[in-house]
Amino acid sequence: MQLTSRTLFSLYQIPATDPMMPAMEIYDHPTFRMACQQFDLVADRLQMPAAERDRIKYPKRAMTVALPIHRDDGSTQVFTGYRVQHHLTLGPTKGGLRFHPDVTIGEVAALAMWMSWKCALTGLPYGGAKGGVACDPGKLSITELERVTRRYTQEMIPFIGPQVDVMAPDLGTNEQIMAWMMDTYSVHVGATVPSIVTGKPVALGGSLGRREATGRGVGYLVNRATDTIGLDISKATAAIQGFGNVGSVAALSLARYGVKIVAVTDAFGGVYNSNGLDLWGLEKHVAGNKTVAGFAEAEPITNDQLLVLPCDILVPAAIERQITADNAPKIQCRIIAEAANGPTTPEADVILDQRSEIFIIPDVLCNAGGVVVSYFEWVQDLQSFFWGETEVVDKLFRILETAYTQVVSLSRKQKISMRLAALSLGIKRVQEAKRLRGLFP
Ligand code: NAD
Repeated sequence: MQLTSRTLFSLYQIPATDPMMPAMEIYDHPTFRMACQQFDLVADRLQMPAAERDRIKYPKRAMTVALPIHRDDGSTQVFTGYRVQHHLTLGPTKGGLRFHPDVTIGEVAALAMWMSWKCALTGLPYGGAKGGVACDPGKLSITELERVTRRYTQEMIPFIGPQVDVMAPDLGTNEQIMAWMMDTYSVHVGATVPSIVTGKPVALGGSLGRREATGRGVGYLVNRATDTIGLDISKATAAIQGFGNVGSVAALSLARYGVKIVAVTDAFGGVYNSNGLDLWGLEKHVAGNKTVAGFAEAEPITNDQLLVLPCDILVPAAIERQITADNAPKIQCRIIAEAANGPTTPEADVILDQRSEIFIIPDVLCNAGGVVVSYFEWVQDLQSFFWGETEVVDKLFRILETAYTQVVSLSRKQKISMRLAALSLGIKRVQEAKRLRGLFP
């Protein structure tokens, strides 16, 4: 493995002590602490031996890279990029790349951990990973965005590969960014390598149905949840926080099941209409204005108001730690569908656990549709043999159905929350794989 001068590569020894050990301080962040807290709960429940805990919990590798680029005005700016690969026990690592001003190595590490449990829960041959660049993509021109993306990919080349680590879109990134990544990697290798990223444009070896996969999966699982709790989906209402890739497709998907979408918010504002929002009109408005705010035929609503709005289905589809100890007692819905990663804090979880009228589809299950179809894309790229959209959607729903049934069944059998059940299934599979492979001397 080659290290570039701008690359700081940290490979951690895993000491068997407590989560705040000095070697792991680099990850300290509220979201990382939250992921560790969730892991510890499950490890206690599984009576996981101390010797196995830290090995399963902490990330295998973490990279921090400096990304100097020329701005359009001729100045030079250095951005910081991260990648965390959580475990490599089951195959390559897999996970999104996020462009957001608040990205830190700790946040990325937490998201990588959750990816591990999600991939294991859905039976994919991957470990989890996540990456990020601390930047505001809305404040970069398209050419600056391309330079940041290409520089990040270039700096990551020693650590990625179709059999090592495969990236995908996440918050603030999209198909075009994946196309630039694929091009940068391919130019380096000297041949076209579509399998280096997923969530690419279909014209470059992307999979049909990948763009819609996460939101479509959310719709499918909400429909299953309404069956489970005996709610008529065709009469249900929903409020959605975040109207990007996941939130907008989840809205359309739920609307196809007959759900009335009454409120939507994003980073800049929100809109509410008790009679239901015109989603096609809203899409057009967002295309022109880059926000849902200001959409006609609706009243303004804030993010805080949306989260406690009376509705049947609440879909957090934006960022982490939105449902907290403050608003959890005031939430007025029957189903929380966690389309975002980590939207609910452990403190809120304790409160929601007491509120048996609320059914939670936890993030590692709820938004797994994205990585499942990313896996299909990777398989198609490796085989250079592409599937029709019906085949993709059919296979996606089968995998989600199996995972959903297993989680509901474990949750009922052991009288534990849906989150604990989903995480237990994922973590146990990683534990088993690590046990079987053993510890290299
Ligand atoms: P995106 O960038 O396409 O959209 C994000 C949306 O959230 C935008 O509407 C943005 O304005 C809004 N937002 C950002 N900060 C906000 C805030 N503070 N309050 C309210 N709204 C805010 O991103 P995406 O791909 O839709 O991802 C959304 C979430 O889903 C993230 O948590 C991501 O990790 C998760 N996720 C995405 C995928 C995927 O396939 N894209 C897969 C699994 C999970």
